[in-house]
Amino acid sequence: ILPYGSSHSVSFPPVFAGVSCMMLFLPVAVLGLMVVCSQEDASLMSPPSLPALDSLLDPHVFGMVVLWFLFQALLYVLPVGKVVEGIPLKNGEWLKYRMNTLHAFVLTVAALGAAVHQGVDLGYIHSHFLQLAVSSLLFSVLLSVYLYVRSRWAPQDQLAPGGNSGSVIYDFFMGSELNPRIKGFDLKYFCELRPGLMGWLVINAAMTLAEMKLHNLNYPSPAMILVNCFHLFYVLDAYWHEEAVLGYMDTTHAGFGFMLVFGDLMWVPFTFSLQSYYLVYHPSHLSLPWIVGIVTLNVIGFSIFRKANSQKNAFRRNPSDPTLSHLKTIPTATGKSLLVSGLWGLVRHPNYLGDLIMALAWSLPCGFTHILPYFYVIYLTTLLVHREARDEAQCRRKYGSAWDDYCREVRYRIIPRVY
Ligand code: NDP
Repeated sequence: ILPYGSSHSVSFPPVFAGVSCMMLFLPVAVLGLMVVCSQEDASLMSPPSLPALDSLLDPHVFGMVVLWFLFQALLYVLPVGKVVEGIPLKNGEWLKYRMNTLHAFVLTVAALGAAVHQGVDLGYIHSHFLQLAVSSLLFSVLLSVYLYVRSRWAPQDQLAPGGNSGSVIYDFFMGSELNPRIKGFDLKYFCELRPGLMGWLVINAAMTLAEMKLHNLNYPSPAMILVNCFHLFYVLDAYWHEEAVLGYMDTTHAGFGFMLVFGDLMWVPFTFSLQSYYLVYHPSHLSLPWIVGIVTLNVIGFSIFRKANSQKNAFRRNPSDPTLSHLKTIPTATGKSLLVSGLWGLVRHPNYLGDLIMALAWSLPCGFTHILPYFYVIYLTTLLVHREARDEAQCRRKYGSAWDDYCREVRYRIIPRVY
């Protein structure tokens, strides 16, 4: 939530205070949400019944988190999947990335299936949920310390545009090194897609089993099935289009520090799974028309999200792609053009619009008793509105008057006629 690389703004003391507060507040907020989620009254106003602090850190659970990370790392280095080049670095070099998230996913499912067959109880994840989150936090802190220390010796041309202010706290948070690697092992790329995203799905599966056990069900509830399927579909789509991540802001601009490490390893798996955790304790009964309505909403959101991202990616790869020849474009002084019709003529960020519609569809199966399952929509709206503003500032710098022409032509940012 901070600018990637504006050295003048970071000498301002409130920024350091803000970063310190975020580092304390965000993990506490995640744990607080998890505690409230499991209470009968999951209202954000109800006082959380806090667990004993010394029960939160369990060496055995920490070992499981480390094992999970190492297992995913092992899958990442398997010599399967194609190798592609990322976008060019400051020094003109291209880093190579192996695309094998789908292979890793299949092998993870097979390994978990075999483990369950051998008597491993996935219910452990549900019964140690808080401890797992605390261990992931500890692991994130340790990894961030390592990243900060090694960044002190990183060559200048491998530093990120931000995260090099000279303030230990700020640089620790933002991350100094752009693409920290151990031999060919890219720590940022690995963390962005694997332990956290895959962990999110495994947590969802564990919550499904916990729901069936707690309520003596032979099958998961329709609400739990919807939440699981939506999340699974979203992650598999990201894996199918793995290459696109190489062009995301996080990959191309952000240093790898506590902000991203915590986001990837604690925030994503433990807040994105709050809906399935909520459903374990708060059954939600859905009528058939309601189910059809929610599925339709998700399909609409996904179609907009996927079409917008695929169109832009295809256009950036090959501006004269014949399948896009019907779309209107605006030329810019950089030689690149901007799409200005179709979905990219509807709003300036149709991909964000689709993402937000899907986020709403993921929350609706949980009903309307509490706001907590809507946490993801609220968080994503805040994040994408802020991200849109940052991207807009960057595009205005890059494209100058052509960007202003684009904004005149496409007036709304994310929601047609609203925002
Ligand atoms: P985008 O994929 O939208 O990329 C923005 C860039 O696209 C701009 O900087 C510009 O770069 C290019 N662009 C903008 N407008 C046009 C246009 N009209 N024609 C052609 N190119 C254009 O942004 P993000 O990286 O933020 O998001 C990627 C995806 O990730 C989105 O779908 C988003 O919803 C999702 N996301 C999900 C999150 C979650 O937590 N679930 C978090 C963050 C993102 P250039 O011109 O240099 O190519």
